Amino acid sequence: MSATSSATSKAVDSPSSSSSPASTYLVLGKYEVVVGMEVHAQLLTRSKMFCRCSADYQGAPPNSHTCPVCLGMPGALPVANRAAVEATIKTGLALNCRIAETAVFARKNYHYPDLPKGYQISQYELPLCLDGWVAIDLPDGGSKRIRIRRAHLEEDTGKTTHVDGYSLVDLNRAGVPLMEIVTEADIASPDEAYAFLTKLRTLLRYLGVNSGDMEKGAMRCEPNISVRTPEMRERGEYGVKVEVKNLNSFRSVRNAIAYEAQRQAQILEQGGQVEQVNMGWDEQNQRTVLQRTKESAEDYRYFPEPDIPPLRVEEPWIQAIRATLPELPDAKRARYQEEWGLRRAEAEILTSEKRVADFFEAAVAAYGTAKGKPQRLANWITGELFRLLYAEGQGQDLRQIAGIPMKPEQLAQLLRLVDERVINPNTAKKVLERMVRTGENPQAIVEAEGLAMVSDTAQIDAAIDQVLAAHPEELARYRAGETKLLGFFMGQVMRALKGKADPGLARQRLQEKLQSEASSG
Ligand code: ZN
Ligand code: MN
Repeated sequence: MSATSSATSKAVDSPSSSSSPASTYLVLGKYEVVVGMEVHAQLLTRSKMFCRCSADYQGAPPNSHTCPVCLGMPGALPVANRAAVEATIKTGLALNCRIAETAVFARKNYHYPDLPKGYQISQYELPLCLDGWVAIDLPDGGSKRIRIRRAHLEEDTGKTTHVDGYSLVDLNRAGVPLMEIVTEADIASPDEAYAFLTKLRTLLRYLGVNSGDMEKGAMRCEPNISVRTPEMRERGEYGVKVEVKNLNSFRSVRNAIAYEAQRQAQILEQGGQVEQVNMGWDEQNQRTVLQRTKESAEDYRYFPEPDIPPLRVEEPWIQAIRATLPELPDAKRARYQEEWGLRRAEAEILTSEKRVADFFEAAVAAYGTAKGKPQRLANWITGELFRLLYAEGQGQDLRQIAGIPMKPEQLAQLLRLVDERVINPNTAKKVLERMVRTGENPQAIVEAEGLAMVSDTAQIDAAIDQVLAAHPEELARYRAGETKLLGFFMGQVMRALKGKADPGLARQRLQEKLQSEASSG
C-alpha cells in the first residue's frame, strides 16, 4: 500500500472542509463523477457467523469446514456469533456511527449454488451501525468527510468453480462473518475513492477486525458510479448509477471509476442514456464489462429472519466495547506531530499501519523523546529500515516490520552508538542491515566486525599523508585553485580508513593539511 505523502499539512479534520466543494469533483467536460462505495470485509472471528465451524478456511480441503447450519439443512438453527457482533459495533464506533438499539437479521433471497439455503442472512431495515463518517486527506492538505450510511453484519457465500462444463461448489466460506460498509455518494474522484479505501483498511487493521488482505478476498469493493452536470447537482439530482462488482484491489477501483465515468459521460454527450446495470472489471483490458441487469430490493424479497431474535444492544455493552478501541491513526498522527515534533510526512507513514506505529513507539520509549530524537528515529525507520524491508521482503507490505529479528530497542541502541560517536552514520547503515537480518545487538556487531569509529588523529593524519602523496596531480590542481577536489580527497581518506573515520574530524584535519600544503607550495 502506498501512503499518501502530502507535504502540506492542515488540521486532521476541519469541519469547515467537510462539505464537498465543487472543486473536488473529477470533471469530464461538463460532467462530474459521483461515487458511493460498498465494502465487504470478512471479520477475524474464530468461528462462522451462525455455526461453530472454523472461519479460518484458507487452504483447507473443499467442504471440510461445514455443518448442517452452514450447509442449509432443513431444521438446522442459526445462532448469532457474539464476537462478530462486537467487532461490527467496534467498527461502527471507529467510523463515528450511531449504534442501533435493535438490529434485526433478515433473509435476502437469491438462488445460487454457493448459498445452499437459498437466502443469505443479512441486516436490511435495521442494521447495527448508522450515520457515521471517515475523514480522508485531500491533495491540498485539507480533509473531507465521507459519510457512512450504514455498517451491517451478514454471512459470506461459498465459492463456485467452473471446470469442463461442471460447477464445483466449496462451502468452506459459506457462513463466514461478513461486514458490509456502505457510504453515501460523497466520493468525487477516483483518487478520493482510493484515499477512502486506504483509510478504511488502515482503520479495520487497527481495530483487528479484518486482515485487509485483498488478494485473499478478505476485503472486496463495489463502487457505484454515476455522472451528472453541475445543474443537476444544484437541483440535488443524481445520474443513473452503474455498480462495478467485486473489485479486489484499490488500484482496480481507481481505474474502474475513471473508465466508467468516461464511458458514461461519452454516452450522455452522444445523446444516449446510461443503463442501470452491474458491471465487472476486465483487468487485462482495463475496461468494465456488463454482468447482469441490476436486481432491485424487491427481487430479494427481504423479510425478518424468524430463527434469530432481534439483537438488543444496550448502552453498557457499547461502553465496554468503546473501552477496547485503540488509539486511531488520525489521533496518533496528531500526537506524533504535536508531542514529538514529527514532520507530517513521516507521521503519516508511521501511522499507516498499526504494527509500524507500535514499532516506532517502542523505539521512542527506548531512545527518548528529547527534542529531535523521535524525528531522527522516524527518519531511520522510514528511510533505511523501509528500504531494507522492501529489498528483502515480499513486496512493500510494511506490516513485515513486526516479523523481523531486530527489536525496536535495538534500533534505539544503534542510534545511541551514533550519538556517542562510537560509529559514524554510514557504518550504522551497514550495522542496521545485519541487525535486520540476524537480530544481533549493534554493539556486538561493531565489536565483531571492528567497525568502531577511528577518532585517533595520528591514524587519520597518517591516512591523509598517504592519500596526498598518492595523488600529486590532484594536489597540484587543488593548489591551483580547484578547491572542489576537497570532496575527492575526503572520499580517498575515508576509503583508506575503511569508512570508519570520524567524518567531522577527518574533514577538519584534511582541510588544515591542504591549507598548510597550499601555503607552503
Ligand atoms: Zn457450519
Ligand atoms: Mn452484502
